[in-house]
Amino acid sequence: SETKPWLRHYPEEVAPTYEYPKHNLARLLVDSAQKYSDRPALYFMGKTLCYREVLDASYRFANVLKALSVKPGDRVSIMLPNCPSAIIAYFGTLLMGGIVVMTNPLYMDRELVHQLSDSGATVIVTLDLLFDRVQKAKARTPIQHVIVTSIKDYLPFPKNVLYPIKMKKDGAKLDVVYGEGVYAFKKLLRETSRIPDCVDVDADTDIALLQYTGGTTGISKGVMLTHSNLIANAYQTMKWCYRTQMGSERFLGAIPCFHVFGLTVLLNQAMLQAGMLILIPKFDIDTILDTINKMKPTIFPGAPTMYIAIINHKRVKEVDISSINVCVSGSAPLPLEVQERFEALTGGKLIEGYGLTETSPVTHANPIWGYRKIGSIGVPLPDTAAKVVDVNSGEELPIGEIGELLIKGPQVMKGYWQREHETATTIRDGWLYTGDMGRMDEDGFFSIVDRKKDLIIAGGFNIYPREIEEVLFEHPAILEAVAVGVPDEYRGETVKAFIVLKPGMTLTEKELELWCRERLAAFKVPRKVEFRQSLPKTMIGKVLRRQLLEEEKKT
Ligand code: AMP
Repeated sequence: SETKPWLRHYPEEVAPTYEYPKHNLARLLVDSAQKYSDRPALYFMGKTLCYREVLDASYRFANVLKALSVKPGDRVSIMLPNCPSAIIAYFGTLLMGGIVVMTNPLYMDRELVHQLSDSGATVIVTLDLLFDRVQKAKARTPIQHVIVTSIKDYLPFPKNVLYPIKMKKDGAKLDVVYGEGVYAFKKLLRETSRIPDCVDVDADTDIALLQYTGGTTGISKGVMLTHSNLIANAYQTMKWCYRTQMGSERFLGAIPCFHVFGLTVLLNQAMLQAGMLILIPKFDIDTILDTINKMKPTIFPGAPTMYIAIINHKRVKEVDISSINVCVSGSAPLPLEVQERFEALTGGKLIEGYGLTETSPVTHANPIWGYRKIGSIGVPLPDTAAKVVDVNSGEELPIGEIGELLIKGPQVMKGYWQREHETATTIRDGWLYTGDMGRMDEDGFFSIVDRKKDLIIAGGFNIYPREIEEVLFEHPAILEAVAVGVPDEYRGETVKAFIVLKPGMTLTEKELELWCRERLAAFKVPRKVEFRQSLPKTMIGKVLRRQLLEEEKKT
């Protein structure tokens, strides 16, 4: 039975159900460009591109891919921070029927090789600052073509604003050797023509995006999101923000578009609403404050850490941030104090929402201008059903009881790329098993109480302990290792490693840090390390994470 007690608290302006268009996701851009061709679509580092220009460049990029023999259904990796080339490559790939693989620019060799091999991407679009890393990984992947966008295209480039790579101090020596298999983004666009039209797709079955996530098992796998999935979620979130308007909203793009939250609530929603997307390549608090002051954004999706950084910054009283009307916070719990202080400073609304990569990602949100509940993730979006079930019996639980949260809706993924077994265990009877433990109250508001999985979330980034442990285990001096998330004032959680050394071996914290830095993205490197004689284990030798966490709490 599907009861939806939350519908009682739906704002009048939001319907419980809508019809979502079934067409190529790139039509979000095409349609807005038809109606609002001269309106600003992208703003980046002082420059603006209008809808017509973005669409024209995207059509050209689609033709570039065709010339490189990319066919509909082929995968194209985009490894870029927020910048116009990322958006053009994204829509260009979709326009010709290709599948976008968003690749985190922080990825180091092993993560990069895994993702490119698993997805089978044959083309990668990246930045000259990342070229070395891509070139080294390339031989162990199916990549045939590397398209490089140059940081020089965006000069004068203020120091320290490039997400997430710092400019080299010596003025950035960027040794890209162009030639066979390596091309300059700008030059390719200039020398090509447009494809005539957006390619038709079967929106319900054709994949638009392969988005990598550890999901509940921790092994990085590609979430297959169809054109319909992503269109539905962009509409659902737009309908939720019903007081916002077509053609006039300005979106502050502080979260990365290579994460599905940024992709849907920034990029896709901005294009759907014919708004202006202000691209910020790196979360740098001064840049954010200056940009708000200058560009007057109205919509600012983010993670709790971003709002915390803003309200605590000494300059926040000097700059005018009152243009901000709507903020949706996702990826981790939003503290009450943060919400209250941020709303007082802006005069706008900051609400908590929830979602996961497997659901495109938004499934829940608190009503923005209506009845909301602090500490709750809110209610399911239109056309979304949710319930809480007993982990063992699978039976739906009564109000107030804690169990696993299940989701059904048009935003639920098609499955995991080439992983039928994982797909079958994650989606059962049309319900997505989130791996999050939560409860529903009598008003149909949900809250998350714990994570079933051992996922660590540090500053909005997901970290899977297993992956860190693998790297630790590879060290010749390490006998046993466990990574857990420990509370951290600023990041919410941070990684702590417990290490047991092999007899007679030595290893310093510094050496261990260097080892990890070479093999893992910076945000995954353990910030805390504890060397021990042994680790607590169960009868069958499984390390007792819970016990380690409890001991940690006592200290
Ligand atoms: P991802 O697939 O990277 O989007 O991560 C999804 C996970 O983030 C969820 O399964 C939750 O564990 C967590 N998450 C997202 N939003 C919230 C929230 N508002 N409160 C608590 N946890 C959240």
